[in-house]
Amino acid sequence: MHNTTRVAVVGTGISGAVSASILARNGLSVTLFESARGPGGRMSQRRETTEDGTELMFDHGAPFFTSSNNGVLGLVKEWQLRGLVAEWKEKFGSFDCTSSKFTDTEQDQVCKRYVGVPGMNSICKALCREPGVEARFGTSVGRLDWLQNENLWMVTALDGQNLGHFNGVVVSDKNILLPPITSVTGRPQPLDLKLVPEIADKLQDIPIPVHPCFALMLAFAEPLSSIPLKGFSIKNSEVLSWAHCDSSKPGRSANSERWILHSTAEYAQSIISQTGLQKPSDALLKRVSEELLQALQMTGINVSQPFFMKAHRCLRCFLLEISISHTSILSSLPSQVSRCTLTFTHRGSAFPATSIAREEKCLWDRKKRLAVCGDFCVSPNVEGAIISGVAAASKLKEILLSCL
Ligand SMILES: Cc1cc2nc3c(=O)[nH]c(=O)nc-3n(C[C@H](O)[C@H](O)[C@H](O)COP(=O)(O)OP(=O)(O)OC[C@H]3O[C@@H](n4cnc5c(N)ncnc54)[C@H](O)[C@@H]3O)c2cc1C
Repeated sequence: MHNTTRVAVVGTGISGAVSASILARNGLSVTLFESARGPGGRMSQRRETTEDGTELMFDHGAPFFTSSNNGVLGLVKEWQLRGLVAEWKEKFGSFDCTSSKFTDTEQDQVCKRYVGVPGMNSICKALCREPGVEARFGTSVGRLDWLQNENLWMVTALDGQNLGHFNGVVVSDKNILLPPITSVTGRPQPLDLKLVPEIADKLQDIPIPVHPCFALMLAFAEPLSSIPLKGFSIKNSEVLSWAHCDSSKPGRSANSERWILHSTAEYAQSIISQTGLQKPSDALLKRVSEELLQALQMTGINVSQPFFMKAHRCLRCFLLEISISHTSILSSLPSQVSRCTLTFTHRGSAFPATSIAREEKCLWDRKKRLAVCGDFCVSPNVEGAIISGVAAASKLKEILLSCL
């Protein structure tokens, strides 16, 4: 039975979805708001349709995750029992472009590799449907206002729609807290940090450098049989850092062989320095697709021509990029963006490289009952995001269940 104490969770990435599920299981009434059309954030799955109508699915964000944390492993066990997660038992390793050799590093792997089934987003999808959770997709939160007299948060959508009043809020993306780059995103900053000075203090002067990435989705009619591994890091390449066979994961369709390539951060940065931060044009994405495929073919690995290829760029990855490469790209940015550069160090990313709440695992304003979670709080991966989401739910449920 869910009570009338209401919590808003902003973001259906793994940290927000885990947080929402825990709060709802404790009887609180949870509403999840997500800008995207579906759940998962950086664990989302992409559906592509070829010209002849064939449907292709790709995990274009995190390809898998590992964990050595007992709390996370407990959740993973539960998800495995529900059929949402499976172990990806294939051969992994590396390819050295200098020696043109694959190395199987399977024996060095201590942790199991887990994937969502049938897509990386399956966990978030299921958590968003749990009893007590209402998920509203395609709903960007534009403002979070603290109503002092009512002791409540008021949540407003980007389009001005009133999304309701809530006793507590979980925010699971840095860009909700940090100054906007309106000229690039068109989005105002939803939360005024003056409302939560303790959180603002913790955010101050802590850079969160990140590594940008392009992902290239490829589909082949025939298996790439010359590749002995299903996932490998690529050494000594200026363009490519990782490749994996997405269709080799458990629960995927075997109608075609689908691979994903990840670019190096340096390559992605070089593209930003040439094009700026605007939404990439189809022509740019086509160029990136061709360059990444060509880089793979030039490694000497025998790769046939794909019948489908498409590059994907995550805008948030790029905004974060600036923190590590701002000196080299400032000249290519609009002047108003240049002035915001230092604040970008706090914004969302593909892989934030530092954490800001290693001890508490989330940021927390007890008086106003607002928790901030996400991978940037703990470690730049799925495990870190889960740990942070659990911590945020734990802070909020403790106070909401005792005081209200
Ligand atoms: C290419 C790539 C490869 C990766 N590889 C790995 C890997 O191998 N292993 C691993 O463990 N991790 C990997 N990661 C990292 C992993 O995906 C992330 O650490 C994790 O998914 C972050 O989850 P999160 O909940 O913190 O954030 P996110 O997944 O980013 O979720 C935040 C959500 O908030 C939503 N949101 C933001 N603002 C608003 C708003 N105003 N209103 C409504 N919704 C909003 C966003 O749309 C998003 O869905 C990879 C990531 C990428 C991009």
